[in-house]
Amino acid sequence: MKCPYCGFSDSKVVDSRDTDLSVRRRRQCLACQTRFTTYERVQAASLFVIKKDGRREEFNRDKLISGIRKACEKRPLPAGTAEKLVDDMEAELFRLGRPEVSSILIGDMVMERLKDLDQIAYIRFASVYREFADLTMLKQAVDSLARAQGKHSSAQLALIPELETSSTRQAETGYRKSRV
Ligand SMILES: [Zn+2]
Repeated sequence: MKCPYCGFSDSKVVDSRDTDLSVRRRRQCLACQTRFTTYERVQAASLFVIKKDGRREEFNRDKLISGIRKACEKRPLPAGTAEKLVDDMEAELFRLGRPEVSSILIGDMVMERLKDLDQIAYIRFASVYREFADLTMLKQAVDSLARAQGKHSSAQLALIPELETSSTRQAETGYRKSRV
């Protein structure tokens, strides 16, 4: 592995972290002393994604990472967030053990994770994946995010108890319907 800064061919590992499917190594170039990161991953069995129009396409990790990166642009998230998110998703897909999954499931898995990380990135990603056609759809997404936030905050619950209960019930019914 050549140093990306000076091209020298030898480096030492200064830190190594294991995730489910990959090892992340922090290396230091022995010539210029610059640090860089390498990832070693298990080559997962091919996974196919069924698109909305019925076409099948091989799961493209890089494409997904660049989509997530775009959504996270200029947001206060640590470098490597998109890679980590996709690592985590791949591990879950791997555990599911299915040879193909729908693009909707992939989108949902990303959004589920972005929701906890950064709300603006979540809305950006959702607008592309869910193909928001107008402001109404954007508003719905923001509202549902606000509702989900409200659930975490007991102060807000106490402030608007009735509204919170009815919207929560609606959200749950909607969820069940969409899954059947
Ligand atoms: Zn170097």
